[in-house]
Amino acid sequence: MSNQEKFVVSRIIPAPSHIECVSGGMFKLADGCPITVISPLAEAELSATLHDTCNVYWKATPSFSFQAGGEGIAADGYRLRVTAEHCEITASGLSGIRNAFKTMRQLAESERGVLKSTCWLLPPVAVEDEPALAFRGIHLCWFPETPTWEIEKNIRLAAYYKFNYAVIESWGMIRLESHPEYCWDEFAVDKKEVSRLVKLAASLGLTLIPQLNLFGHATSSRCGSGKQMLLDRHPEYASLFEPDGWTWCIANPCARQYLTELVTELHDLFDKPPFFHIGCDEAYNAGSCSLCRENYPAKLKAHLMYFYSLFAKRGARVMMWHDMLLNRDDPRWEGYTAYGHSSRGLDELYKELPKDIIICDWQYGYPEKDGKEPDWRTSHFFKQTGFDVLVCPWLERRGIKSLGCLAKQEKLFGILETTWHWYRGSFRKETLFVIASNAAWHPDWTPESNVVYREYLNRHLREMDQDMKSKKYIQFGSVQYQINPAPYQD
Ligand SMILES: [Zn+2]
Repeated sequence: MSNQEKFVVSRIIPAPSHIECVSGGMFKLADGCPITVISPLAEAELSATLHDTCNVYWKATPSFSFQAGGEGIAADGYRLRVTAEHCEITASGLSGIRNAFKTMRQLAESERGVLKSTCWLLPPVAVEDEPALAFRGIHLCWFPETPTWEIEKNIRLAAYYKFNYAVIESWGMIRLESHPEYCWDEFAVDKKEVSRLVKLAASLGLTLIPQLNLFGHATSSRCGSGKQMLLDRHPEYASLFEPDGWTWCIANPCARQYLTELVTELHDLFDKPPFFHIGCDEAYNAGSCSLCRENYPAKLKAHLMYFYSLFAKRGARVMMWHDMLLNRDDPRWEGYTAYGHSSRGLDELYKELPKDIIICDWQYGYPEKDGKEPDWRTSHFFKQTGFDVLVCPWLERRGIKSLGCLAKQEKLFGILETTWHWYRGSFRKETLFVIASNAAWHPDWTPESNVVYREYLNRHLREMDQDMKSKKYIQFGSVQYQINPAPYQD
């Protein structure tokens, strides 16, 4: 591959399954430029959306022609042919067409050799692309420290990198009508703003999935911060939680009622998506109150089954973290994340749970043995016991790629890349968004050696800012401040 080719084909994140540069001049993206879209969709279903897209991307009004076809192309996949004279997109649905346009935006360079460019140029290429995994998710936390523009920017970037789901975990940031006390009052946003993000994401090809922790992590705060979102200001609700405040008291019928009101309002607010994430990780000291002490596995089963049925009636599948279902002292899980404890007897619970619960197996390390790639035995275990499994890596780059390969080979449900509180900075953003989107689209991909992908990521962040009409210093780039003004907060 020539250097020139290398710099063209490596502009696209995630990299396409197949791309080649073809001979000829650049295609000018300007008013009246000819773009043919071949798909089973009618002109009336596409025209307005595609004109909007081209206006946002290039401030151009192409001359579209629409043709029937494209049925054989995989879901979300697309074919793109660009020559100096013509641009042609083939896909089997709107998501594939959208993905082709995202690729075109990343491929384009501004007009060359002028002071201020007035149009964009596409290099002549032939692209064929389809994702390895059908479910390509990213888990985004919305902290009081995350301004709305920042969660929006991450949502936009996730969609731009062709993820199709984002789990949104609000850490006290959404003010609900059923329980207005259940948020950080001075930071929380109203439902209208959340609804705007849900609709914006959908228009970009991304379904937002709400999360509310129904078991451990009930503080809506990081453990190490010592904060408890509800009890710090409303200690009268202490009986809803175990005595230490970290886990819900699942035997208290008032806690169940309280959570029912929260999750139904939240699910409605997100336009009733087909999934709801109920958390359930790291429930330290679960069953430690006088009400919970006896028959805890049966109580937890009743708690989970209640919410499972509630969501089933709403047409949604439940997603939950895996770690309380495996015992940490079981030698099979050595080196892997497991937080169950043999004294509580939760390790048999998986047998009694419905198998259409989606197990989110979070493994943040790279537990290699004797220098070999990890065997990811927890994911195999849940698959063999009949569950759909999402592999959930975090910052370990080898782990992200290896888990993507596993999900592809084993035909697992997909990937859910977690980001937690370390989602800022070019290097981490590259890991969470670039490496993970590549793992979801084609985990076998290896980057070109002399291409600095981080700089393309930075360009893409700039494009998100332009779409959002950002104006302030802290909104640009991958961090709010180049020099941390409030250190020692980790
Ligand atoms: Zn209890």
